[in-house]
Amino acid sequence: MATSEQARASAGLVTSRWKQFLQRAWSGTLDLLYPPRCAGCGRVDTLWCDACALAFSAAGPLILAAPAPLSGSVAGRWHEGLARAAIHTLKYENGHQMAVVLAAPMAEALQSTAWKFDGLVPVPLHATRLKDRGYNQAEWLAEAVASRMGVECLPNALVRTRDTPHQVGAGGAERRANMEGAFEPVGDALRGRLLILVDDVFTTGATLQACAEAALAGGAGSVFSLTATAARAGARAAQP
Ligand SMILES: [Zn+2]
Repeated sequence: MATSEQARASAGLVTSRWKQFLQRAWSGTLDLLYPPRCAGCGRVDTLWCDACALAFSAAGPLILAAPAPLSGSVAGRWHEGLARAAIHTLKYENGHQMAVVLAAPMAEALQSTAWKFDGLVPVPLHATRLKDRGYNQAEWLAEAVASRMGVECLPNALVRTRDTPHQVGAGGAERRANMEGAFEPVGDALRGRLLILVDDVFTTGATLQACAEAALAGGAGSVFSLTATAARAGARAAQP
């Protein structure tokens, strides 16, 4: 009996080692066929080279003028140059690893504030959009920042009830109207919580405003926002 169990266990081990070997071989083959390229400068064999990492780390975080009902807004970087390239890779090239790169300036931005908070909430995608894309980059960012700072991440506390039209090219007022009532709180998860909403880009703040309204309707005590980048066209640096 013991012998057959041992045999089974050892066969299982062989199978899992064989699987690991195949996975590694496959990912190695993919790397040979499509070597990773630096999202910043295109250098082959790395997703984020040392030179780009150094240049990226040189700029500081941004304190933004927060649109009501947000109690405060910060961003890691302006949405330009390396930061813009990093967001592009994250968002359109399934670049999960970039979430870890972007989490560093995002955590730095949060640490530059005196905000009290006890949870990070990624801006949710509508179910249809999530199905098409397969991932929510805001959730990747929130998880990366949460694990870096030891804060709880609440990815299912808000839901997007309307699949809003693409906002590219829309002005501030139009975006605001498009987003009205697009989110709802789920159950009581947010009651009494002090929250940081997390998204990839602060464009005009309309999405974050609509999310904050839903979180406050769900009982949140206060809501701030944290984004990886902020667009100069829509965001304003807060007056010192
Ligand atoms: Zn580079």
